[in-house]
Amino acid sequence: MSDLLIKNTRPMGSDPADILIRNGRIDAIGTDLAAVGIRVEDAGGRIAIPGLVDAHTHLDKSLLGYPWYKNEVGPRLIDKIDNERSVKREYGLDAHIQSMRQSLQSASYGTTLIRSHVDIDTDQGLIALEGVMETRRQLAGIVEIEIVAFPQSGLMRRTGTADLLDQAMAMGADLVGGLDPCGMDRDPKGHLDTIFALSQKHGKGIDIHLHEMAELGAFSMELIFERIRALGLQGKVAVSHAFCLGHSDWKATQAMIDTCADLDIPILTTAPPSREVPSLQRLKAAGVRFGAGVDGFRDTWGPYGNGDMLERTMLLGMKNNLRRDDELADALHVTTTGGALVMDRPDHALVPGGRGDVVLVEGETLGEAIVTHLPRRLVVTAGNVAARDGASLMVRP
Ligand SMILES: [Zn+2]
Repeated sequence: MSDLLIKNTRPMGSDPADILIRNGRIDAIGTDLAAVGIRVEDAGGRIAIPGLVDAHTHLDKSLLGYPWYKNEVGPRLIDKIDNERSVKREYGLDAHIQSMRQSLQSASYGTTLIRSHVDIDTDQGLIALEGVMETRRQLAGIVEIEIVAFPQSGLMRRTGTADLLDQAMAMGADLVGGLDPCGMDRDPKGHLDTIFALSQKHGKGIDIHLHEMAELGAFSMELIFERIRALGLQGKVAVSHAFCLGHSDWKATQAMIDTCADLDIPILTTAPPSREVPSLQRLKAAGVRFGAGVDGFRDTWGPYGNGDMLERTMLLGMKNNLRRDDELADALHVTTTGGALVMDRPDHALVPGGRGDVVLVEGETLGEAIVTHLPRRLVVTAGNVAARDGASLMVRP
């Protein structure tokens, strides 16, 4: 928590102003602000945006720092999952080092808040969780990390995983994860009853990966809706990917989106070019909390990605056919304040009283900053300078 005065910036592309941060929070935004005895940064007229929020990623398993991974993995989900477990063993992949590498790379791009799923399975137990928790401790003040205990290899199909998730929650994971209750576990009732029971036992929320498309995804969504209503968990259960909300049967899809609004179910997307995705415009119109993330990247799943949420903002715009400048600003809302709202942080915005997370970006307008996504001039987390000119101040291991 620090004090900082950022002079000569343009908050969200507006007229020039200064931003004063005290004790890690935005104290004032205005012209000719002065403060004695605190550090000053000159923004040189650059646009200031809130810290970028990567609300869906996997910090424990990128292959950053390793030579290029030659991907020869089969086409099915289970091929990727089984291959990943064997590569982790072969490489002796250290979740702490990998999560440090990815988090610091993300910080260099202006991300100040991350929600990461972390694999919990009967092969590696809780070791990845311990590694990412250590990274969370070491990077406090640079990037804040929220952890989802994620049964990547299945829950009902691998006996012992539920107990490990229970232990993970007791150790300090923030949310219970889930994965394709039909497609992965072939036991939607067992899978969902287990994760909802863990959520209730530990008093924590849920974030479930739902890749299931069309009617199968809609069926799983119905089961999720039923449990939220029965247990009174409105606002506590998020759904990641939710490809079924992008299905072209728009009457059925709209009814599900409306239910997500009624039950306050946040949706998280990675805007993948290869899949149907929930429409940003429809979610916005319905008032559904909506965040975005880079997902896993440079890992055994696929070669794409780099952790840059400003680039992801552009992909979100392309995926949703956003062309107007006001629409691009909507996309940036999803990758900043929107993602923070999914994580129940209403103070993540460039307003007095907001958290002192500020990123200086290059461009005449917000739209240009998004489309060019040039290296970030300055990244400030709670008043601390975390990165400058595209490089994090802490050296990557
Ligand atoms: Zn994911």
